[in-house]
Amino acid sequence: MQVYKFGGASVKDAAAILNLCRIVRDHGPQGPLVIVVSAMGKTTNALEEIYDLAYLGEGYSAQLSALEGYHEQACVELANLIPTISLSQLQRQLQQLTASLSEELQFMQLVHMPETYDQGYDQIVSYGERFSTLLASTALTYFLSFTTRHVPAQLLLRTDEVWREGKVNWSATEVQTEEFVNKALVDAKIIVTEGFLGGTAVGLTTTLGREGSDYTAAILAYCLRAESVTIWKDVAGLLNADPKIFADTVRYPEISYRETIEMAYYGASVIHPKTLKPLADRGIPLRVKSFLDPEAEGTLIHDCQHPALAPAFIRKTDQTLLSFASKDFSFISEENMAVIFAALAQAKLKINVMQNSAISFSVCVDYSERRVHQLLDVLREQFTLHYNTGLTLFTIKNYDAASIARLTEGKRLLLEQRTRSTFQFVCAA
Ligand code: ASP
Ligand code: MG
Repeated sequence: MQVYKFGGASVKDAAAILNLCRIVRDHGPQGPLVIVVSAMGKTTNALEEIYDLAYLGEGYSAQLSALEGYHEQACVELANLIPTISLSQLQRQLQQLTASLSEELQFMQLVHMPETYDQGYDQIVSYGERFSTLLASTALTYFLSFTTRHVPAQLLLRTDEVWREGKVNWSATEVQTEEFVNKALVDAKIIVTEGFLGGTAVGLTTTLGREGSDYTAAILAYCLRAESVTIWKDVAGLLNADPKIFADTVRYPEISYRETIEMAYYGASVIHPKTLKPLADRGIPLRVKSFLDPEAEGTLIHDCQHPALAPAFIRKTDQTLLSFASKDFSFISEENMAVIFAALAQAKLKINVMQNSAISFSVCVDYSERRVHQLLDVLREQFTLHYNTGLTLFTIKNYDAASIARLTEGKRLLLEQRTRSTFQFVCAA
């Protein structure tokens, strides 16, 4: 058993989905294969926008029609590229999904708002993966002569009810995955499922956090004791920096789980940070390969020793630096910090870097207006607060003097921190 994960860029239109089919046919394993699919292109962002408008009681029909049109066009083009596909049947299936999305939005606005913003978010934003999986599984079914089955992720992956960040119930997921995958494998070789989604015990949809489809692939691989996982991306493998931001990047041909976990944790966008642990736990190797050049070697992430790695550069934008000072100039004590940490956890803000001095404590977090204000409201009474938004956090993993000089040149640093292997700083945009 192998697991493949195809991200948003690799299914962004009909031509990309055909390319996915060719990769599976030409490079896929002999044995069974589970394929995890992300939403097409920027669909998740579009759904977030639609949900926000609906939640605020505003109109969203233009945005919804654009999203429907995008998927409809992909259906038409896909049926052109793979002529055995029945366009009318595919269109009917898509329309069922779009109708149920728009009913859910209307129900929310007119009848009953979800209990929390986050709960409604999962019900709506999950449609991205439902659309893409319909298209990808239909394409594979006709392209590979009926050896493919779609198994909804909500049946496989059981989570709790922590909306937008569902925690996996590993024992239930293992049982369900084995049961449904084995059933499907009786007359199929390939199973397609939605990335990013899970289901609660009562059948509501949850999501695993943005970019969570990598994690889905790892969860399924763990539960199925898969031989390997391959993530197909638009880059040549795991690089030491994002080529859209940094010039002259290098690819790591081979890298350990631990190094990769750290890079993902610091914000390297190549792999979702939670992906590595389940794989490392069962010693399942992870390959990162380019869907544009499937022959190329890519990166192999597994349990290995390697000599010193080239410094990795990681940039996180849209950061906020929050500083808390005690109002009476007393020292920042462990008790004060406990209050601050509790408020951060409650607001679901994750600390990217932190630093303390005698009378103040600073944290750098991803900016979210809603969450930052929730935090400030809780802490305002007890602390004097300062915050700056629109900042960037840079991390250099395995730094040397030259890499620090190169990255900090000409920048005004608001916070800086260095450990044995990592150099981090926060600066204005
Ligand atoms: N579609 C989701 C997102 O864009 C999940 C994923 O792509 O991994 O966040
Ligand atoms: Mg995506």
